[in-house]
Amino acid sequence: MTVTVTTLKGVETKIGNEMLDELRMTIRGDVLTPEDPGYAGVRSAYNAMYPGRPSLVVRPSGTADVISAINFARENGLLVAVRGGGHSVAGLSSVDGGLLLDLARMNGVDVDPEARTVRVQGGALIGDMDHETQAFGLVAPSGVVSDTGVAGLTLGGGEGWVRRQYGLAIDNLLSAQVVCADGQVRTASADSNPDLFWAIRGGGGNFGVVTSFTFQCRPVGPTVAFAGVFHPVEDAENVYRQFRDWAATVPDEISALIGCTTLPASEHTPPQIHNVPMIVTGAVYSGDPEEGMKIIQPLRDIGTPLADISGPLPFVGVQTAFDEFFRRGTLRSYWKSTFVEDLTDPILDIIVAKARNRPHDRVFVIAFLMGGAINRVGATDTAYSERSAKWMVSIDGNWEDAADDDKVISWVRGAWGEVHEHGTGSLYLNFNSVADEAVTVGVESAFGSNLERLAAIKTTYDPDNFFRLNNNITPGA
Ligand SMILES: Cc1cc2nc3c(=O)[nH]c(=O)nc-3n(C[C@H](O)[C@H](O)[C@H](O)COP(=O)(O)OP(=O)(O)OC[C@H]3O[C@@H](n4cnc5c(N)ncnc54)[C@H](O)[C@@H]3O)c2cc1C
Repeated sequence: MTVTVTTLKGVETKIGNEMLDELRMTIRGDVLTPEDPGYAGVRSAYNAMYPGRPSLVVRPSGTADVISAINFARENGLLVAVRGGGHSVAGLSSVDGGLLLDLARMNGVDVDPEARTVRVQGGALIGDMDHETQAFGLVAPSGVVSDTGVAGLTLGGGEGWVRRQYGLAIDNLLSAQVVCADGQVRTASADSNPDLFWAIRGGGGNFGVVTSFTFQCRPVGPTVAFAGVFHPVEDAENVYRQFRDWAATVPDEISALIGCTTLPASEHTPPQIHNVPMIVTGAVYSGDPEEGMKIIQPLRDIGTPLADISGPLPFVGVQTAFDEFFRRGTLRSYWKSTFVEDLTDPILDIIVAKARNRPHDRVFVIAFLMGGAINRVGATDTAYSERSAKWMVSIDGNWEDAADDDKVISWVRGAWGEVHEHGTGSLYLNFNSVADEAVTVGVESAFGSNLERLAAIKTTYDPDNFFRLNNNITPGA
């Protein structure tokens, strides 16, 4: 059979049987066309707006397969999407007509308990990593939904429940193995290709396919103090202000957030919060749980909550607590984020007004407490450059019906624009959807003065912009 595949030039090319057979001979994993029975079983993308319909899927079993797939795609000028966990909110987990390199089979995780490091393959999910590290009472800092890919999350920064004590995922990255556009495998670390190492810590998938990451682990858990308190939206002004004032006093062991949303009924949540617009406050203390429960007590004393599920919890329980509300392939998503120096009264007024007037139940308006260890890294030490803001506000549009696309997207843009006016000018690319915009949107704001260096490194490792389905850095720009 012959498959028609989209090229880097945006035109179509035919890949015939012979060429497919040649590719198959070099790949131990799967090479799938839409005609193959396994095609339908490929793990879906998170964002239901962008399921993708690739003409060719390669599911490598290891680095050797990745090299072969990249060489094949480059030699034939094919447009390639790289999928780690598939959670791109920008919809860049797949491609229509091109080649999808889906790393799902490469989900191995190997902990070295003595060195307190973990080596994680490029298709592993946070849940895969936490399962292994927690067996040794360790974590590699990542994100808060266990179904998210370690790869995309890390390459964009990676902020989770221990961020203020231990920094972003990239701040704990020791090295990575990268298959670059020329098919060469490079180690990126402080000692080996340090420019590449700098660039992949925030610069996304622009520089190659990361087949494995090695992280420094931290001692956290197995039990941590967790705060989860739910308030009626009517009390928003009071709750937001008291939360902000409490957050100003907490040590770095606390990472915290406040948001508004409406969650569907679930057997895992108290009935008082089912389908009720509410303000959620959440926090984790990454040290001694008993001490942590004391520090989160003032948060639990705010107002008259609808429900309070706080308590000492297994760390893996915290990491999976939100999973059921973010099932892959079920929600359409359009998110925008912005960093702010502080949650000033004018910003809180905007957030509260938006909290009361969301276009869909599942839209979140969240403020993440940042700072701590994140801000102890210099703005030019890694490609990720926002190292001074204390908060990130994210407007997360989530909905089900395609008929609501325009309504929710324009609301998110409007709400984001209002907050962004008060922001540092920077944004978080992992929370940056593009919809009808170019994939370069947000890149300049996110990288600021680091962009020039990133463009030069992109020119070194990917001069033809082979890796372009990402928050794209134009070579030499
Ligand atoms: C429900 C949900 C919860 C989230 N929670 C958090 C959170 O708590 N903290 C946080 O920081 N972010 C969070 N995110 C954002 C998340 O970090 C980004 O969407 C990230 O891109 C997801 O990575 P992935 O590997 O799953 O995605 P993918 O869609 O597989 O990849 C996204 C992009 O990363 C690149 N990429 C992926 N794998 C590789 C690889 N192995 N080598 C090279 N490039 C690669 C590609 O350019 C790809 O387009 C969340 C997203 C969702 C949808």
